[in-house]
Formats: sequence, C-alpha cells, structure tokens
Amino acid sequence: MSVLYCASTGKAEYLKYKDPKQPLGTRIKDLMKRMTLAEKIGQMTQVERKIATAEDMKKYFIGSLLSGGGSVPRPMATSMDWVDMINEFQKASLSTRLGIPMIYGIDAIHGNNNVYNATIFPHNIGLGATRDPDLVKRIGAATALEVRATGIQYTFAPTIAVCRDPRWGRCYESYSEDPKIVEEMTEIIPGLQGEIPANHEKGVPYVAGKDKIAACAKHFVGDGGTVKGIDENNTIISEHGLLSIHMPAYRDAIIKGVSSVMVSYSSWNGEKMHANHPLITGYLKNTLKFRGFVISDSGGIDRITTPADSNYTYSVQAAINAGIDMVMVPYMFKEFIGNLTALVSKGVIPLGRIDDAVSRILRVKFVLGLFENPMADFSFTAELGKKEHRELAREAVRKSLVLLKNGKSNGNPFLPLPKKAPKILVAGSHADNLGYQCGGWTIEWQGLGGDITVGTTILKAIKSTVDPDTLVIHSQFPSVSFVIENDFAYAIVVVGESPYAETNGDNLNLTLPAPGPSIIKNVCENVKCVVIIISGRPLVIEPYVPMIDALVAAWLPGSEGKGVSDVLFGDYGFTGKLPRTWFKSVDQLPMNVGDEHYDPLFPFGFGLTTESTTT
Ligand code: BGC
Repeated sequence: MSVLYCASTGKAEYLKYKDPKQPLGTRIKDLMKRMTLAEKIGQMTQVERKIATAEDMKKYFIGSLLSGGGSVPRPMATSMDWVDMINEFQKASLSTRLGIPMIYGIDAIHGNNNVYNATIFPHNIGLGATRDPDLVKRIGAATALEVRATGIQYTFAPTIAVCRDPRWGRCYESYSEDPKIVEEMTEIIPGLQGEIPANHEKGVPYVAGKDKIAACAKHFVGDGGTVKGIDENNTIISEHGLLSIHMPAYRDAIIKGVSSVMVSYSSWNGEKMHANHPLITGYLKNTLKFRGFVISDSGGIDRITTPADSNYTYSVQAAINAGIDMVMVPYMFKEFIGNLTALVSKGVIPLGRIDDAVSRILRVKFVLGLFENPMADFSFTAELGKKEHRELAREAVRKSLVLLKNGKSNGNPFLPLPKKAPKILVAGSHADNLGYQCGGWTIEWQGLGGDITVGTTILKAIKSTVDPDTLVIHSQFPSVSFVIENDFAYAIVVVGESPYAETNGDNLNLTLPAPGPSIIKNVCENVKCVVIIISGRPLVIEPYVPMIDALVAAWLPGSEGKGVSDVLFGDYGFTGKLPRTWFKSVDQLPMNVGDEHYDPLFPFGFGLTTESTTT
C-alpha cells in the first residue's frame, strides 16, 4: 500500500485519492469527502489568467484558468514562456491543503492558434471539404502536441456546430451544414485525447497520456441554427429538428470520450441555453450519459436575462441548477464565488448539485493524469510548428480546396497551370497576406492582417513552385493598363474576406468585399485567370463567374500556403467537395441541402477534380 505525503498535516499519511492504483471512482470519492464547500466551489470556477494572481489561486482554491480569445501572456511569447507562466499558477494550486491541480484551457481551434510559430491548420469549414475524418484525427493529435508544448492541458475545441446559415460570423468554425459530416469530424476528439480502449465505460472521459489533452465539444446546443445566423441569438426549431440536426454530433463526441461540453450563448425557442435544465441535465447528462463536465461560455451565465427582474444571483442559481459544472467567469469570479456560496448555504442550490459538478471536474483531472503530472515540462516545446505538423497542414490545405469552375484554354482544362511560362501575374489583397489566410482566432481573437506568424503565403508558395525561369509579378491591385501592357501568360487572383471572429463576423449581405470585385474585373477581363477565394463561407460571386476561367474556394487555409500551389500546378489533383451550399443571393438564405426550394449556384457536395500531372 503506498504511503503518500499529506500537505495539510505535514505527516506521511495514505491518501487514497493520490494513489493512481486506486479505481477512478474511489479516488473521486476519497477526495470529495475531504473537501470543504469553499474548496468545492473553487473547483467550479474558471478565471481568466489576466485577472487571477497566484494568491487568488490559493485563497479561492481556483480550479481552472483560461486564456480566453487568445489572450497570450505577451506577443511573441515562446512555448517556454507559457510553460513557466502556467507552472507558477500550478505551484500555487499544489500548495493548497489538498493540493488539487488546476486545469488550464485555451481556444486551440485550428492548431495552437494563439501562439507565435504554431502550425495553423485550415479552419473547420475547410476540413469539412476534405471529407477525411482520418486527416482530422491526425490534425487533432498534432494540435494536442503543440498545445502540450505550451504546458496547456485543455482546449475549447472542437466546435461541432452545424451552421445552417452562412451569415453567421462563426460559420467557418463549423465543419458543415450537414449533420452527418459534423458527426464524422468528431474524429478530431480521439486525435486530441487518444482513442478510447475497448470496453471503456460509456460517457466517461478519456485522455490517453501526457501527449494528449482534454477536448471540449461546443456550443451546446443549436448554436449554428440561430435566426439569420445572428450570433448568440435564438434558434427556432422543433424538438425533432434540434435532435436530428444539432444533437447527433454530441452523441458521437460522448461515445468518443470527450472530456467537457461548453454551453451555447444562444437560446432555443426563446430560452437561454445556459438555463436549460431539460437539455443540459435531462438530455446531455441523463439521456446521453455524459460523465465529463459541462462548462459555461465566457460570461455566458451573466446573459441569462429572464425573468425580467433577474440579476446576477439569479443567473448563478439558474445556471448551476440547470446543470453547468464549471463557470467561465472571466471578470467576476469573487462575486460568483460569493453568490454560489450563499445560494448553497440557503439551500437554493442543493449540495448534491455541487457534488455532482465537482466530481465531474475531478474525474477529468484524474483522467488527464494531472495528479501524477501536474507540472508542465519542456519535453514538448520542440513540437510547436514542427516540420511534420506543417506537412500535415499542407496536406489538409490541398484536400480542402474546392474547384468550382475549370474552363478550357486551347482545348484543355485551364487548371492545373503549367509551371513554366514567360511571365505570370499574382494579384489581389490576399495573395501575400498570412494573417488573411489564417482568419480569425489566430494570434489575436479577431485575427490580424500581415506577417503575423511563421508560415508561407500563397505568393511565396507560387514562387517556390514554378519553374525558376518563370517570372512572377505581384501586384495587389493592378490597373487594366498594367495587365494589358505586361502580356502575362495567365493570372492568379487571390481575394476574399479579412479576418473576424464571433459576432463581429455576422454579415447580412455576404458580398465579396472590396476591392475584390474590381481586382477580378481588371484582371480577368484582360487575361486568362484563376480566382482563389479566401473566406470563411460562401459569398455572392455569381456576377463574376462568367469572367473567370477557373474558380477555387480555399476557405481559411492557415499557415501553409504551399498546399494551394501544390494543387494549382498539378503536383496533386483537386479533390475537395463543398461542405456547404453555395447560394446565388442572400435572399435564398437559409438554404441547406435537402430543402424543398433548393436552387444553389453550386450545390452541397459539388467539387470538380483534376489529375495530378506528376507521377
Ligand atoms: C466563445 C467560445 C470560447 C470562449 C473562450 C467565447 O466568447 O464563444 O467559443 O471558447 O470565448 O475564449
């Protein structure tokens, strides 16, 4: 029998919960019976790192920290800086009476995207176009390593929203409008956490080891179904619709051992999800038998506004009684703790509810191996942005590109392009802009333009792919006379959306942003051209299609622009298929595959193919 040191008494004492040989349930029970109410409520509290001090960790027994929306310790922080920073907090947690380690969460939603030099994978919409769950699983495994490189053990991913309206600013975080594809892409979970062993108990979270991290399926439920795609709004749908469109991926995520589920800011038929007992406790925990923890969205409980006279105390009561286990409380953690303590003391929130919440959180911490390995070490730091991961991202880019049009040139298909030509034009605002390629949730929450991290722009990728004798001229916004005078063999035009995230990305008109249309006109009316659209969703492009020789949807491909040139010049064929319906005009929205009046510009699943020209 192992004898372990007890921090509270200073004596050698056998502590069952610290013994990894004890069954999971026994460890949880043993620890729970030693905990005070304050220690339990601390576990339920997740604080934004920027506002928590090491002293707070000890005083309030804070169970979790986050870097929300990519709030990094400082710009260009290295993986070593992250490890050191996280370990400082962890030391504080371990010095408390029971030494319960804290868990640190981050939005690693397309790679460890908050961190300079991380590999940035295509956003989920592009992964949906690959139709390749095994690829997505490998991306999950690489992401886990790059997150571990910074000492972090928990990601707020994957988003398993089924985006039904591209006007939604988070459409690119969704794999598809089709629930089936979203379900298949939950394969990212075994990538992030490890493959669950045979006979694993259903609903119990699973994390395989130190090279894996805890995942979070979000946002429960119906986040992608809001009216007109307005972020955080109301999803009006029957119970059958909710269960058949938005719920199936949660069932899959739970079968695959997902550690946590995040609640959606949105409402279902007028009721805020953060207060929805039948869905959180009734359906997720009881029907689907989810045994990990349910986390609120950032400040999500503060937005419970019904009844009209509700206040923060009421929000805490409604959210915890609905079944939320951990509350992301970025700015009001002391008020949250005070309110929750009072509500439990008054019996408004039963102690049994607190015990359920805390045992779920501890379950994940035990499963993660946090009690055995609480401290981050430097053994994973070399994983950040490593060559193999960049190769994987490049493969993902290749497979995510959807060829929408491929006209003829001298009797042959226009694409793939020849590598050898006297002079070619690469034009457009997005051709040499790594930040635009990566989109939102990259380095900054809203994303940024320019050379924001390590990677290859499409222009650089083209230059490194063509024959050394091919002259590549780059112009962001070429004039008509420039195009005509230069007598280019052909042009590659790269235009699209600039980065956005969440509500800021809501867009009711979805036009191709300026100067995209003028660039297309100036170039494509005067020389043979392929247009590559960088965007988080389909845009209104019908007016331009007739003047374009070839058209490619590249979504938000991330840091590895070479995936684009690989396919453009025929080293690989185009294989991607539309993960969403490409509408003609916004008046048609919402329009999804299977709808009665389905009249798209390009239907769901559309995608032309080309053969590789190299053998
Ligand atoms: C988003 C979540 C995210 C959280 C933490 C919220 O605003 O809705 O998806 O995980 O912030 O950054």
